[in-house]
Amino acid sequence: MTVPADTLVKVAEADFPTAYGHFRIHGFRRAEEEAVALAMGNLATSPPLVRIHSQCLTGDVFHSLRCDCRAQLELTLEMIAGEGRGLVIYENQEGRGIGLLNKLRAYELQDHGADTVEANQKLGLEVDLRDYLLPGEIIRHFQIPAVRLLSNNPGKIQALERAGVVVAERVPCQPSGTDLAARYLNTKKQKLGHLLDL
Ligand SMILES: [Zn+2]
Repeated sequence: MTVPADTLVKVAEADFPTAYGHFRIHGFRRAEEEAVALAMGNLATSPPLVRIHSQCLTGDVFHSLRCDCRAQLELTLEMIAGEGRGLVIYENQEGRGIGLLNKLRAYELQDHGADTVEANQKLGLEVDLRDYLLPGEIIRHFQIPAVRLLSNNPGKIQALERAGVVVAERVPCQPSGTDLAARYLNTKKQKLGHLLDL
């Protein structure tokens, strides 16, 4: 029997102790997309904290201060561990979906004065290429009735709701001490409507 291409497939699940707490790690695939989910606690009762994180090699791995991705990821893991339950969906979509090397080209343009939105426009790229069908499927996989979404981005709530997810609450995800990313965050606030207290 063949599985339809857009069906969510759980490829693997394993024990996953971290510095923040003890999770289960899950690997999912849907069509051409892949994602990792870190799950802690019982998720199918009251709405748990959920964060959808778009892969950021430069921030997540190299601790780049050009963006606040790693700081947000760390805050997320701390908050979930603090509550003893929650879900992080880590999407394999570098640079809001534009790809790693295009993100570096955008950085180069930013070094010459463009902001993050202008740089993407100069490269002929959409500002945000993400849709949330894959995370929507993953949230349903865990039988989560509604989410408390860790995000500063109102557009993410709307995109998730279009993917059939009930967002019970938006929980701000604003780490302190990201001064070097101030210009980037200011652009997110002014041009992308993120709800940031700057
Ligand atoms: Zn980043």
